[in-house]
Amino acid sequence: MERDNNFEQCLKCDICSGYCPVAKVNPVFPGPKRLGPDGERYRMMDAAFFDPAANLCLNCKRCEVSCPSDVHIGDIILKAKLKYGRKSHVLRNAALSYTDTMGFLGTHFSPMANAVASLMFKGGPRYASRTFERQFIGSETAARQSCFDHKVSFFHGCYVNYNNPSLGMDFVKVMNALGIGVQLLDDESCCGIALISNGFVQKARKNAEKNIASVRTSVEKGMPVISTSTTCMFTLRNEYQNVLGYDMSAFSDSMYTATKYIFELLDSSAVSLHFRKDLPKIRVAYHMPCHLEKLGWGLYTVALLRMIPGVELTVLDSNCCGVAGTYGFKSENKQTSRNVGKPLFDQIRSIGADLVVTDCETCRWQIEMNTGARVAHPISLLAQSIETLK
Ligand code: SF4
Ligand code: SF4
Repeated sequence: MERDNNFEQCLKCDICSGYCPVAKVNPVFPGPKRLGPDGERYRMMDAAFFDPAANLCLNCKRCEVSCPSDVHIGDIILKAKLKYGRKSHVLRNAALSYTDTMGFLGTHFSPMANAVASLMFKGGPRYASRTFERQFIGSETAARQSCFDHKVSFFHGCYVNYNNPSLGMDFVKVMNALGIGVQLLDDESCCGIALISNGFVQKARKNAEKNIASVRTSVEKGMPVISTSTTCMFTLRNEYQNVLGYDMSAFSDSMYTATKYIFELLDSSAVSLHFRKDLPKIRVAYHMPCHLEKLGWGLYTVALLRMIPGVELTVLDSNCCGVAGTYGFKSENKQTSRNVGKPLFDQIRSIGADLVVTDCETCRWQIEMNTGARVAHPISLLAQSIETLK
């Protein structure tokens, strides 16, 4: 069921424009109010009113978080882009969006792909030589999962599969330490956020339908679906429903980010995590990704990080990093992307923490590329901090 286009709820307060990270740094950008609810009125009269400046929108949804009237501003802008926008840079955008294909090639030719990536970016994306699926399926770790009475399904996403399989193994380690087994979904495709953002809607729908069928099977077997990627989970829960128009209401209570699931489990049951006794003091700066803020689930990560002995935590100011998936990798957006992220980069540099932690892979790349800081996922930090099961 497609959510109603609720632009009529707009109060004209313009609070959203004050919160929009692009409006703050790019005078060409008309801002969420004008592109969203105001623009929608005009576009309904004539599609010629579509303003291509909408392509500068990051789809960060920060405007939606700020709106006192719950106008779905980011969704309105994204749907307008998909309906009225013209495709440009099709080959480049396809290379950025077809992450399954690029991941397959990148992992098969990882030395070459990584050599090219290191010439292009300091820090940022690198490919693993073996995918997470190839490392996990058929392994002793996978065989051990059948010993657990309670199990969850892991939506690993492209990042874990092609770039960082050890994060997937870290997730399995933490879940096993909590007495829970991990299985993969019957069939998983890229969540499709990059496809949606770049206008490849047909392919995004194909992926979404495959993923929804696998989520349904898992939920019917009583296994919730967990992801370490905030953007994958946000896409499954929110973008499938609000942008692609699939009814996700039957599953949304069974889909979690890893830190929310783990925090709730620790909070509501007798299980606990046994932390290593020899943990050194470490100064950690936490960056909350925009899509996690939109889900309202960032505090679960903060609470988990606070449980780790030795961690001196600074929660960074709420700022967008500016990368927004593929946005910051496009030459025409580079300057806006860097300017959006500057307050975050400056704060990270001034704090000088030992480690930056964030739940989103593209935030991680953006921070690495722009600050040189060491960045990790909260689940990896948690996995390194707990006793290993014998
Ligand atoms: S914050 Fe919400 S209500 Fe206010 S102008 Fe923006 S869309 Fe309208
Ligand atoms: S989604 Fe983000 S970039 Fe786009 S209008 Fe809203 S706040 Fe601005």
